[in-house]
Amino acid sequence: MKISEVEVRCCRRLPDAFDAGAFRTGDFSAFQFLAVTMKTDEGLSATTFGFAGRSAEGAGKLIADTLRPFMLGRDPRDRERAWHEFRTADRWWGHLPIYGYGPFDTLQWLLSAEAAGQPLYKYIGAYRDDVPVYGSSMILAKPEDYAKEALRAKAEGLKAYKLHTPGKDLEEDLEAHRLVREAVGPDFTLMSDPVSTFNLEQAIRFGRALEALGYYWYEEPLYDEDVHALRELTRTLEIPLVGTEVLAKHPYSIAECIATRVVDRVRADVSWTGGVTGVMKTARLAEAFGVNCEIHTSIFHPAEIVNLHCCAAVKNCDFFELLYPVEGFAFGLKDPLPIENGVAKLPSRAGLGVDLDWDDIDRCTVAIV
Ligand SMILES: [Mg+2]
Repeated sequence: MKISEVEVRCCRRLPDAFDAGAFRTGDFSAFQFLAVTMKTDEGLSATTFGFAGRSAEGAGKLIADTLRPFMLGRDPRDRERAWHEFRTADRWWGHLPIYGYGPFDTLQWLLSAEAAGQPLYKYIGAYRDDVPVYGSSMILAKPEDYAKEALRAKAEGLKAYKLHTPGKDLEEDLEAHRLVREAVGPDFTLMSDPVSTFNLEQAIRFGRALEALGYYWYEEPLYDEDVHALRELTRTLEIPLVGTEVLAKHPYSIAECIATRVVDRVRADVSWTGGVTGVMKTARLAEAFGVNCEIHTSIFHPAEIVNLHCCAAVKNCDFFELLYPVEGFAFGLKDPLPIENGVAKLPSRAGLGVDLDWDDIDRCTVAIV
């Protein structure tokens, strides 16, 4: 079986249900993403979505020019060979952004699983058939908005809620965390992700407050590459520190983070950290050190469901992350993600196991490169 065709669609989608002020930079105006399709000489075809930052056409052209010639003619089952040859090629001349290779690795896995007649997670090797889900907030306008949203998530049956706070004022961010704890009560699982907001001193102060409020984990309070300060923070606090979702070159860059406990739990996802192969390498590496790899959202549901397959194929991940409220992100798949009462159920059909919404993809396509 050989890869005979690679199509990269550059896509843009105006946010209808999505709050345009939701991103911290405030200049968010539309989702930009890639829809990447890989076909084989045996008539198989798979499509996934790729991240594209703020320029689908920019990212699409760069990635297609680099990875189409790299992929054509390969057997999609020879993923490990492609992985290592890409690592070398990327060091020598490619230097793609962290989100470049993920969709291409994912597509090789989907085609292989399809050819084997297995759902992806069974083809990888399943650990479970369903995964608990947490709602992961956007940046909201006021502290009390988080409390309202957390209550909604709890009422919908989600198993936990994570706050992304604005990061402009430490006291205001803490107030949001306090109000959420008050609203949902002492037993509901809560996490905090300030997304690289603090210096070390502030991060210690904030973390101690989270400990007093009974938060379950504390994610990326400092930039992922602030290795020394993060290690210090992990030693200082009781609450588990979580990070590494934006470090390039998983799993190699993560080895030191795990071995010297830069953080307590690592992160990986199919979009930013090398597709299914990258996630599995990082998750298995972490497992051998007794560490969890909390799989990070891949934002777009056609990639998110690949994350779900990965979640079901590892033991050391507590939750499936779902950006919330879900309606702002519910596009790209024909049917909603298979979540019932806060539990995501794995599809039983071969490959991805669900259908893409091609009418929507066609509407969003601005260029095919
Ligand atoms: Mg995060």
